[in-house]
Amino acid sequence: MQRETWTNWARTETAHPRRIATPASVTELAALVADAAANGLRVKAVGSGHSFTGAAVTDGILVSLDRLTGIDAVTPTDDGAHVTVWAGTRLRALNEALWERGYAMRNLGDIDAQSIAGAIATGTHGTGARFGGLATMVAGLEMVLPDGAVVWCSPTERPELFEAARIGLGALGVVTRVVLDCTAAYAMHAAETSDSLDATLERLDEDRTGVDHFEFYWFPHTRRVLTKRNTRLPVDTPLAPVPTVSGYISDELLSNVLFEGINRFTTALPQTIPAVNSVTARVLGSREFTDRSYRVFASSRRVRFREMEYAVPAETLTDVLAEIEGWIGRTDYRVAFPVEVRFAAADDVWLSTAHGRETAYVAVHQYHRRDHTSYFRAVEDIARAVDGRPHWGKLHGRTRDDLRTTYPRFDDVVAVRDDVDPQRTFGNEYLERVLG
Ligand SMILES: Cc1cc2nc3c(=O)[nH]c(=O)nc-3n(C[C@H](O)[C@H](O)[C@H](O)COP(=O)(O)OP(=O)(O)OC[C@H]3O[C@@H](n4cnc5c(N)ncnc54)[C@H](O)[C@@H]3O)c2cc1C
Repeated sequence: MQRETWTNWARTETAHPRRIATPASVTELAALVADAAANGLRVKAVGSGHSFTGAAVTDGILVSLDRLTGIDAVTPTDDGAHVTVWAGTRLRALNEALWERGYAMRNLGDIDAQSIAGAIATGTHGTGARFGGLATMVAGLEMVLPDGAVVWCSPTERPELFEAARIGLGALGVVTRVVLDCTAAYAMHAAETSDSLDATLERLDEDRTGVDHFEFYWFPHTRRVLTKRNTRLPVDTPLAPVPTVSGYISDELLSNVLFEGINRFTTALPQTIPAVNSVTARVLGSREFTDRSYRVFASSRRVRFREMEYAVPAETLTDVLAEIEGWIGRTDYRVAFPVEVRFAAADDVWLSTAHGRETAYVAVHQYHRRDHTSYFRAVEDIARAVDGRPHWGKLHGRTRDDLRTTYPRFDDVVAVRDDVDPQRTFGNEYLERVLG
């Protein structure tokens, strides 16, 4: 049989599904799922393939919701609106469509290429100690279950399914519509500064809790960081976006074109990385601008890389970074990509990496032509020692047995899965590893 080939953005996963389907309606999708289940075939929904893990891989039917996109309904609330969105909508299109209607996502990650259902499914998050990840904004979900039933779930309707499906890893059903609790549109001021790691860690509590959206990038082999402080502003604040030319230079040339060149050069000559990192940390120096919130959150990432990200208790961050620096210092491992540090509020989503605790995120990256395994393994060991939780969509080596102990509601998720998908119609290798 001729099979189609699917590959994810990072080129870490390839699948040869029996068929790639793009249903044009929920009815068509429901019939497809029921038919596949009746014939013992597996089904997997895919978004934009931006997970580094095999979360979206299948040898059965790969279902893209690219024809189920856009805003379906808007119901105003006290401080924004409940916006019902078709699951295949890309964040880029969603953000524009929300802005046109006077609304915005309460927080966002650093790219906008993902589908809304895919982003939610793996616990995609941004930064900000008072804010949660995207799944905390979900107020309701419409899903297709293995028998083809189309059901809604929310805090009041099938609440157990809702809690498990908010970050559902694609294991419980194909999400077709998402109700998002959006806020009124807002502008944002961005301040980016080159600083020392020591000064940044000294001021950490103040910045983490005092700045709306604080993050920093630490350049390994140096004690330099790039800090980003984003402050929310009223929607009618006069905008002062990055001018096109300097935006092109810093976002496109330095962050993508030159950075690709740097990575090719340092792949050939890894011993130059410490010197190169010192220069990069200073060149990506200070700038300020004000723009629509969603334009400030997202940047373009065209240098291909591998990533692992760990959610650690916020109070352990300084020790975790020191351990990572110690490991890099003790080995001859060289990495040109900065370590990204972000923050989130504690939340109550069952499989959220920030479940029940104030969280710091530590993300490590490696250029796709370099070997990342020893680095990621070392950082994983360091993060595990402080009860770190891996991002569900990024590389990690954890399994069901050792994940179970860090998520108080893990067994509840497994119970909901056993109930709605006992035949594992939505199963795949990744889910077998992490959920059993
Ligand atoms: C360059 C880059 C930058 C990133 N930045 C961030 C960031 O800032 N913050 C962060 O937290 N993460 C980030 N990520 C990770 C990314 O947000 C997640 O991996 C996200 O899940 C990708 O969304 P997607 O639409 O590509 O989903 P896919 O990778 O295609 O799928 C992810 C999972 O969602 C499931 N799924 C997709 N659609 C549906 C549906 N309709 N119903 C049920 N399940 C579904 C799939 O089966 C799979 O299990 C980044 C990744 C890349 C490559």
